Amino acid sequence: MPLDLLALAAHRDDVEQTCGGTLLKMAERGHRTGILDLTQGEMGTRGSVEERAHEAAEAARILKASWRHALDIPDGRVENTWENRLKVVRVLREQRPRVLILPYWEGRHPDHYTASMLGYEAAFISGLAKLPLEGSAHRPFKIIYASLYRDVRPTFLVDITGQFETRMASIMAYKSQFTDQQAGSGIFPAQKEIRARVEAMARYYGMLGGVTYAEPFVQKEIGLVEDLLAIPVKSI
Ligand SMILES: [Zn+2]
Repeated sequence: MPLDLLALAAHRDDVEQTCGGTLLKMAERGHRTGILDLTQGEMGTRGSVEERAHEAAEAARILKASWRHALDIPDGRVENTWENRLKVVRVLREQRPRVLILPYWEGRHPDHYTASMLGYEAAFISGLAKLPLEGSAHRPFKIIYASLYRDVRPTFLVDITGQFETRMASIMAYKSQFTDQQAGSGIFPAQKEIRARVEAMARYYGMLGGVTYAEPFVQKEIGLVEDLLAIPVKSI
């Protein structure tokens, strides 16, 4: 059974932080959602790969995702190579999502913006029938970019007011990362601070959309409207 929507990100817990509420909302609407993590987190200051795998599975359960998988691309060294593109193509051809969520294409962390380019190029070549790879050609219909990590004006928001608390629980499922502890206490904020930050960002975007909490996205294409009377977000 194909996925309706696949979110791709460099690291376990990126999807929870940038578009977890949206994934949950889509699952609640009956769509099949999936998460592809490019790396397994072996470079993390806190937690082991095994712990992070358990936490990622728990977070996926909380977000009602139908499918989650982590590739074996080295953590901290996500490169847009032919070999890595083929790894993503195998997933796209197998899971056949209609909508693909990628990280925004600029960012502080090289793994994040590289994952964006890698995901886009994989989605393109996945549609080439003559690509010497198993599985029939498939190209997602729509690619959108989760832009929460980057200070850019989103082109649209998803209202996650009803999903906010559960999405917060999916972030806190990464106990090795986000519970208060000694390791990395100089660089990791305390749990209370994380909650405040996540809430502030969701509130900010919510305010832009006239709702309580929202997640930001960018699409490269133009918006298309059927009924002018149904356009949301008040002007004045
Ligand atoms: Zn990340």
